[in-house]
Amino acid sequence: MKTIGLIGGMSWESTSEYYKIINEEVNKRLGGLHSAKLILYSVDFAEIEHLQHQGDWSSLGEILSSAAISLEKAGVDGVILCTNTMHKLTEYITSVIKVPFLHIADATATKIKQYGVRKVGLLGTKFTMEQDFYKSRIINDFGIEVIIPNPNDCQLIHEIIYNELCLGMIKPESKLKYLEIINKLHNAGAEGIILGCTEIELLITQNDCSLPIYPTARIHAENVVEFMLS
Ligand code: GLU
Repeated sequence: MKTIGLIGGMSWESTSEYYKIINEEVNKRLGGLHSAKLILYSVDFAEIEHLQHQGDWSSLGEILSSAAISLEKAGVDGVILCTNTMHKLTEYITSVIKVPFLHIADATATKIKQYGVRKVGLLGTKFTMEQDFYKSRIINDFGIEVIIPNPNDCQLIHEIIYNELCLGMIKPESKLKYLEIINKLHNAGAEGIILGCTEIELLITQNDCSLPIYPTARIHAENVVEFMLS
């Protein structure tokens, strides 16, 4: 089994899901007492969130670079980043390590393509929904059309992520708001919905929604296990 390095803590609410899913999937495949070989580098999310909203992406890039270097020095065979948003800074990681970096959008888009879906709705932080770094990868590398909610709905989704989900608060009224927005994306032609923030799947599951959903933390974690056991 390969050892995976996780850059996590953004937030720890979703990183703990990665830890659980990766261990469960390794055990499902290998049986017995098998569990995952991994090293977790977990950051202080308050510092990260502050720099994000200040727009200080270069300082954030330095934090991710040094985490990736530490993980490589510790002997991991690959690195992942347990958040969609911070994939904006992918190059800060890939430029300093030699081991593979497994990108969350690649894992997600590969999965979506298997189902023949051509147009998806994307939910995530405003950074992920409104900027190009995430959508363009899915559009250009996988040929899947990506639509996002209207600006007011993007704001609402963003606030619920930072003010509730990253603090472990799961509120039924927020779930209803998300489901209304998903419905609007469905009416706009989305054939599926990317839960493009690793905390959203703590709020919305496939049972809540008739449209297929793509939970990025789970899809990414399962993809990592394929890599670890390959
Ligand atoms: N975990 C979230 C994501 O997947 C948001 C927190 C962050 O900004 O990293 O985008």
